Amino acid sequence: MGPLPDSAAAQLRGWTLAARLLDQSLRIRAVNLIAVAIPVDDAEEIESALAAARAAVQGGARLVEWRVDALIDPLLPERAMDAMSFVRRLVTESPAPCIVTVRSEREGGAFRGDDTDRVSFMEALGADPTAPRYLDVELAVFERSANLRQKVRLSVMHERQPRDLKTSLILSSHDFEGRPTDLQKRVAAMVSEPACAVVKVAWRARSLRDNLEAFELLRERAKPTVALCMGEFGLMSRVLAPKFGGFFTFARGATTEETAAGQPTVRELRDRWRYGRIRSTTQVYGVIGWPVSHSRSPDLHNAAFDATATDAIHLPMPVEASWESFKATLGAMIDFEPLMLGGVSVTLPHKEHLVRFVRERGGTMCPISARCGSANTLIIRRGGADATPHAQNSLHAANTDVPAAIAALGGESALRGRCVALLGAGGVGRALAFGLCDAGARLLIFNRTRARAEALVAELESAACVGTGASPRAVATVGGTLDDAARHRDHIEIIVNATSLGMRGEATEARSPLPGNFEFNRGMVVMDTVYTPRLTPFLLRARAAGATIIDGSEMFVRQAEAQFKMWIGSAPPGGLFRSTLDALDALATRASPGGTESA
Ligand code: NAP
Repeated sequence: MGPLPDSAAAQLRGWTLAARLLDQSLRIRAVNLIAVAIPVDDAEEIESALAAARAAVQGGARLVEWRVDALIDPLLPERAMDAMSFVRRLVTESPAPCIVTVRSEREGGAFRGDDTDRVSFMEALGADPTAPRYLDVELAVFERSANLRQKVRLSVMHERQPRDLKTSLILSSHDFEGRPTDLQKRVAAMVSEPACAVVKVAWRARSLRDNLEAFELLRERAKPTVALCMGEFGLMSRVLAPKFGGFFTFARGATTEETAAGQPTVRELRDRWRYGRIRSTTQVYGVIGWPVSHSRSPDLHNAAFDATATDAIHLPMPVEASWESFKATLGAMIDFEPLMLGGVSVTLPHKEHLVRFVRERGGTMCPISARCGSANTLIIRRGGADATPHAQNSLHAANTDVPAAIAALGGESALRGRCVALLGAGGVGRALAFGLCDAGARLLIFNRTRARAEALVAELESAACVGTGASPRAVATVGGTLDDAARHRDHIEIIVNATSLGMRGEATEARSPLPGNFEFNRGMVVMDTVYTPRLTPFLLRARAAGATIIDGSEMFVRQAEAQFKMWIGSAPPGGLFRSTLDALDALATRASPGGTESA
């Protein structure tokens, strides 16, 4: 490499000074850091890897992990010869204190050589004047032979190290399949090793419950500890690490690949998941669904937590579709007191499970949830510290979808006595049928599967209408299948789509729930519950005919505002959820103008 031009040299000096200052703070305040993991597979990638590291540090990362598994590959002799100089450059030009990791194929990495090569490289690097802040060595390697152990101990600083070295040892253990059966034993082995400065365990979570075990490991730590769950269930362990005293968490750079499944980017961790603001006192909320990663509920609630300076975070919480998964996961999260779960939003397919769960646990629920058997909000009130776990928590289920939809339609005064065509008899359709009846509307229910519409009408008939006291038989009638709607057109004043047709990303995204021969007119009010996209094919047709249209975001924003108020006790700042959702939609549209944005 030739001499650097003056400006580049000055910039490099600046980064080096910044890295030194960060290193000092790392030694003093050694928790809650974001480590950006950057794989460097080839010498030609060094420049871009350094640029990625600088961008990540500017974005909030305070440690850089150089993953040099492939860079020092001994099976490529020409590369192995220069390996040390490549890694030296990464360490000296690293914009923050760094970890050097050479992960074997067996533990999910790309290093193809044998353990002796790897450890010899580490030993040389630890003793090198440009030694990194940390060396990461797998526990399995460390335990494989006394000789390897000895070499590792010689290369890092610890109480019995006679040499003046700068590098500390991270002992790590990974399982990419699931929770290792000997997890506790592995942690104990790392803790008892005098040369180990940081304990790191990571495994693929099989459900959200694995995160709770990671938190337990952090709470009981005897040394600085990193405990992370990989995969889609593991986000919580990455985001909430500071709440339980995690030493650091891993993220990826904006342009680099993830080094473990489920790694968010540094920016996502900082901005979307408020990493810098998570504390032991942070109350946890979330949205339970399957799938749920597309949900915008966390963005809305987190914006309001920020705006109201509420010490809380709202996270996506994927829970598989079965009742057993829902019951076990939600139960475990509520009973794990240190998590401080304050409430959850619940979406497809768990709204009915929530009602059953709250009933089984002796909780209370709003009248609409009790009658339609589906709820989208759980509020958890914590009891006194000396109560038994079950008695400690009082649970309340609420349905905010229904009042939100009624309000979006203009409230009871706009509905009483009006003829409403409700399209769909699924979860949302059922709940809206009860709400519209209560509001005094005359309902015509249409559904692809006619029998479901008939069953819903039968249920409505056996329930009293709370709002009007009207005979239910007089207000709800089976309209038929969706194709039958045209026959009733002259009576219909309001239409509500509660089917999933028109939803972006679905096979039926281009479809409207009403057949082509259905004629909308100017006097109709037409609402869609689908909110991505805002203008569904159904609404576009209605608008073209001059009908008044109400898009699904009107309901979505209102149901979220009601949830927030139930949890926190006061409404979110006026207009905040609306502007947050609009901004997200604009971003998604810019990112995929072709319309592949997900909700
Ligand atoms: P669900 O329980 O799965 O019900 C789906 C409904 O759509 C059923 O009536 C179903 O008819 C019908 N359907 C599905 N595929 C169809 C097809 N190919 N042709 C005709 N009909 C079809 O779902 P859900 O929980 O009720 O949710 C429905 C929609 O509500 C979702 O798409 C969601 O976007 C929206 N939603 C909006 C909000 C909001 O705040 N805006 C809140 C919650 C939900 P069958 O009975 O014949 O299967």
